Amino acid sequence: MQFASQDQLVRQRISLAVASAVGVLLLLFALSMRQRAALAKVASTIAATEAQRRFQEYFERHPVAMLIFDVNSFEILTANAAAQRQYGCELRAASIDQLRPAADVDDFRRDLQRYVASGDSGGLGGVRRHKHADGTVFYVDITYHFLDFAGRDACFVTAHNVTAHEAAKKALRLRSRALEASRNAVVISSREEGDSVVTYVNAAFARTTGRSVDEATGASHWEMIGCDPASPDVRSIDESLNAGRACSGLFRSHRCDGSEYWIELNASPVFGDGDQPTHFVTVFSDVSERIRYQDQLRIQAYEDALTHLPNRLGLKARLGDLVKHAADQGTTLALVFLDIDNFKEINDTLGHTAGDEVLCEVARRLSMTVSSAELVVRYAGDEFVAVLHGRGDADSLVAAADEMKNALNVGFCVGDALVVPQASVGIAVYPDHSTDPETLLGYADAAMYQAKSTGPNSLQLFNPEIASRSTKRALMAQALRRAISSDEISVVYQPRVNSITGRTIGFEALARWCDPEQGFVSPSLFIPLAEETGSIVSIGERVLEQACRQTAIWAQEYPDLVVSVNVSPVQFERSDLPFVIAETIKRTGVCAHNLELEITEGVLMAPRSLATLRALRELGLSIAIDDFGSGYSSLSYIRTFMADRLKLDMSFVRGIGCSRADEVIVRAVIALGKTLGMRVVAEGVETPEQLEFLVDNGCDEVQGFWFAPPSEAVTARSYLRGEHAACMKR
Ligand code: C2E
Ligand code: CA
Ligand code: CA
Repeated sequence: MQFASQDQLVRQRISLAVASAVGVLLLLFALSMRQRAALAKVASTIAATEAQRRFQEYFERHPVAMLIFDVNSFEILTANAAAQRQYGCELRAASIDQLRPAADVDDFRRDLQRYVASGDSGGLGGVRRHKHADGTVFYVDITYHFLDFAGRDACFVTAHNVTAHEAAKKALRLRSRALEASRNAVVISSREEGDSVVTYVNAAFARTTGRSVDEATGASHWEMIGCDPASPDVRSIDESLNAGRACSGLFRSHRCDGSEYWIELNASPVFGDGDQPTHFVTVFSDVSERIRYQDQLRIQAYEDALTHLPNRLGLKARLGDLVKHAADQGTTLALVFLDIDNFKEINDTLGHTAGDEVLCEVARRLSMTVSSAELVVRYAGDEFVAVLHGRGDADSLVAAADEMKNALNVGFCVGDALVVPQASVGIAVYPDHSTDPETLLGYADAAMYQAKSTGPNSLQLFNPEIASRSTKRALMAQALRRAISSDEISVVYQPRVNSITGRTIGFEALARWCDPEQGFVSPSLFIPLAEETGSIVSIGERVLEQACRQTAIWAQEYPDLVVSVNVSPVQFERSDLPFVIAETIKRTGVCAHNLELEITEGVLMAPRSLATLRALRELGLSIAIDDFGSGYSSLSYIRTFMADRLKLDMSFVRGIGCSRADEVIVRAVIALGKTLGMRVVAEGVETPEQLEFLVDNGCDEVQGFWFAPPSEAVTARSYLRGEHAACMKR
């Protein structure tokens, strides 16, 4: 029992020892656990402080603006240095509202409420407008995160300044809109394995080509523009682009529906970072309308609008080839120069519309006489040129030209008038007269002039003598210009005599030119030349000036004297005649009633001249109709303008005693003048028989070699004194 209790005791002791040991161990364990927890806590506190420090440092030094604000009071609780810089002011304790323009505050608050209500811990606020303390607005990209900050509901915000980026985006957007708004089609293509693939087209592209944006994007560049990439012009554009050069060109292109049109295209390489272009930009527009207009202009430039025959340029363009063809074939060719006779009178008397009708009819008739391989052109006003070939020798060509001339001589009606067109014709033959096209044309022209000088409706084949005459003409024109500028044109006076009293009652002033080399040149030679070259305006003014000065002197003694001065139709067209004459009257001191102007029937009938004539009359001077009866005049024109004198053309006077018809006309004109209250003057009276006939038939005044030739002022004065009245005696 004792043993048992000892055993029990041992066991109890062991148990106690184990328990104690466990207890110690437990205690030790407990102690170590506490220690570890405490240590851990210390460690974690150290770590937290470190993180906070690091975070603080990170926050403070971060280049992006960061701040924390109270979501209830909107008070900024803290902000980093970048934020202070970005907003330019102390942010702590300020209101978050002041960071943005006032207009954006409501939007911001509404969005904030939404973010808070969503329960999300944070997110992206997007790009917002913010404001610097100085008022400058800039763009920031916002991120936000809700947190507890020192026990307050706060929001942590990063505000990354993206103003530059936004400006770039805005500029890009503008450029893109501008591209879209452009009226020109724009294509941007990238270079891919030697081929250009479309990456962008604007709206105008779709309008111009009919191809949609979707269809074009990714498709072949030239195919979409509608040009054949294999054509030489397109290949040359490609070559330039590959070499990095901008280029342009005009192309025939095709729309989506296959219709053809013209485009004007400018293409430029677009370089990436390297020195090779990565893209091309092509801008083009539909220029079909312009091309059509240019074509039309080109045609018009070579075609006469009235007759639709080729014009002078048209002749120039083809003559060389026609002459070359004749040379190659070893055949002859003729240049036929035709000038309508008295066309100006047709124009003046029947009007311009009638003149146009005559030209069209002439064009039609001439065209009918030539083959399709030959050519008829309207060279100028009333001048036509035909190029005849394939007809054999020069004689056959002349015969053909004669046929052309005769084809014109058939009368036709223009309004109420019967017109029988006639032409003066000159011919020059290749190779007989020249092998040079220009020279041939000049020779045909010179031959025509020669024909014209022999009378209307004549034909002249060129010969070397004509060439020298035409050269002389050119020299004469030159000499005349010189004579005018050095005041070599003088004036002579032919008396006009009262047929009853035999007294000289006035003079006709006539121009005279004595060239130092050629001697006296007849007015019938130099006046037409001056009219052609326009120098008649200067001659007319000089004659008028001299005649007025002389008349003013004579009028002091003979106050009723009337001196007449010839006025060319060209002066009516090319100068302000009433002004020139009024000034001359003023300058020379002549009385207007001592002055008379002699005009031809053509002037009277040109519609614009009537007003001028009335204005001249108002100056107080008188008007005589010169060479009456020789033109195309109609009596109705005489009625519209009552002249003071009718000067019967001398060709009728010449017929007195030998032509019944002329005598009848002379009587009729005298009667007409008397009835209408105009004085009738007979010109070119050379014989006493002519004078007798005129006096017997009541002609008022006479002028001619029978009384006196035109003479210088000193001699002319003697006629005024009546020294030659004896001529009247029969
Ligand atoms: P016209 O106006 O018919 O002048 C009359 C012409 O007849 C003058 O010729 C005169 O010399 C000439 N003549 C005078 N009496 C007789 C005669 O009995 N028999 C013949 N056969 N002829 C006679 P002229 O001086 O040679 O002038 C010729 C034409 O030149 C003038 O014809 C006139 O049209 C023009 N002319 C002359 N001077 C001027 C001028 O200053 N201005 C203009 N525009 N034309 C002028
Ligand atoms: Ca005259
Ligand atoms: Ca006359």
